[in-house]
Amino acid sequence: MSDDNRIVMRRPIVEMDGDEMTRILWRKIKDTLLYPFIALNTEYFDLGLPERDRTGDAVTHNAADAVKRLGVGVKCATITPNAQRVEEYNLQQMWPSPNATLRALLDGTVFRAPITVRNIIPSVRTWRKPIIIARHAYGDIYKSVEMRAPGAGVAELSFTDPEGNKTVLPIHRFEGAGILQAVHNTDASIEAFARSCFRFALSSGQDLWFAAKDTISKRYDHHFKDTFERIFEVEFKGAFETAGINYYYMLIDDAVARVVRSEGGFIWACKNYDGDVMSDMVSAAFGSLAMMTSVLVSPNGQFEYEAAHGTVTRHYRKHLAGETTSTNPIATIFAWTGALRKSGEMDGGAALVDFANRLERACVDTVESGQATRDLQPLSASPMEVLSTDEFLTAIKERLAKA
Ligand code: NAP
Ligand code: MG
Repeated sequence: MSDDNRIVMRRPIVEMDGDEMTRILWRKIKDTLLYPFIALNTEYFDLGLPERDRTGDAVTHNAADAVKRLGVGVKCATITPNAQRVEEYNLQQMWPSPNATLRALLDGTVFRAPITVRNIIPSVRTWRKPIIIARHAYGDIYKSVEMRAPGAGVAELSFTDPEGNKTVLPIHRFEGAGILQAVHNTDASIEAFARSCFRFALSSGQDLWFAAKDTISKRYDHHFKDTFERIFEVEFKGAFETAGINYYYMLIDDAVARVVRSEGGFIWACKNYDGDVMSDMVSAAFGSLAMMTSVLVSPNGQFEYEAAHGTVTRHYRKHLAGETTSTNPIATIFAWTGALRKSGEMDGGAALVDFANRLERACVDTVESGQATRDLQPLSASPMEVLSTDEFLTAIKERLAKA
């Protein structure tokens, strides 16, 4: 405890501010729910678009370096510029997505986790606990080379090593026109993905599922399967046994069938395309983007937490026009609690871990008591009182202060 009875943070975490409505929420969350209880200790980086533009995006790179150094970060949603944003903000250039930059610099995997509350019932009846999706974010069809075969001809797959030795495999002898696609992945990326998944499973105490189509894809998908198996056996098996959790490999079609019959409560690691598709399926079935958090985990065990949604531009325009908003802060609050809990776990800060748990409980209890922001009303199984952003934050604070 500090002199004023607030919880002390023994080590700083990286704080990355963002844009629009979520930047407004960021300030409100800190003022209402964090500062009164914690002597916040952060290294602050302003990833808001004006500052990224002013620094030539150096601020994003500096923030990533800080996450590498300090191990834990929390990030506000940020604008990924497009042509319209370049004009709106009078940008020097169309800066890349900060999330893509962070992911590349940390070599990390993104885990998306729904926040579940009793009165929002998932579309899949059996789901009682969250299903966390880990999507491999490199290669496969997202880095494919494609070609139209205009007519009859021979397609081949060829590889040339630095000495000029060539390996050539026939793909297909076309009788008429057709289409071709070549995809790749790298050992380094698959290994980093596997390590991030095993680390996150350990960190969250949940089973890990990984699925591919190794029966059909005997070199490509089989290599994913073998890589996961080898890294598990050599580096993680003991720790999984101690933690009482399991690793399961299965075929992707088998996994899909099992997932919809499961009660949830596990991590589902997906290849790039499967993750793209399945993360939207899982988040839609759980209810709302505003109730989805996300954490980027590097293979070296660095953690960066954020909400899965964007900067909620439509609400920001209303806010600027002086109208009252009802924007859901829960995913952003859970980004903070995720980072604070992780930081507490890393340095034995039990009070910080306890605070994070109590703040999450206060959010869930407030929604379960029937008070929430507008987005949750149509999803709720019981009558819901719609609060403004400020009223909702105050309701959470009152619960937290009582706890
Ligand atoms: P968005 O900000 O996620 O919002 C889309 C819609 O979802 C909102 O208009 C709102 O619906 C609803 N929504 C999302 N979060 C909500 C919340 N917390 N509370 C209540 N409703 C919520 O997506 P977008 O409008 O497509 O993108 C806006 C900006 O965010 C873009 O510039 C994009 O680049 C950026 N973005 C950033 C990230 C990130 O940093 N991780 C991710 C995605 C997008 P209603 O309007 O119907 O109320
Ligand atoms: Mg998708």
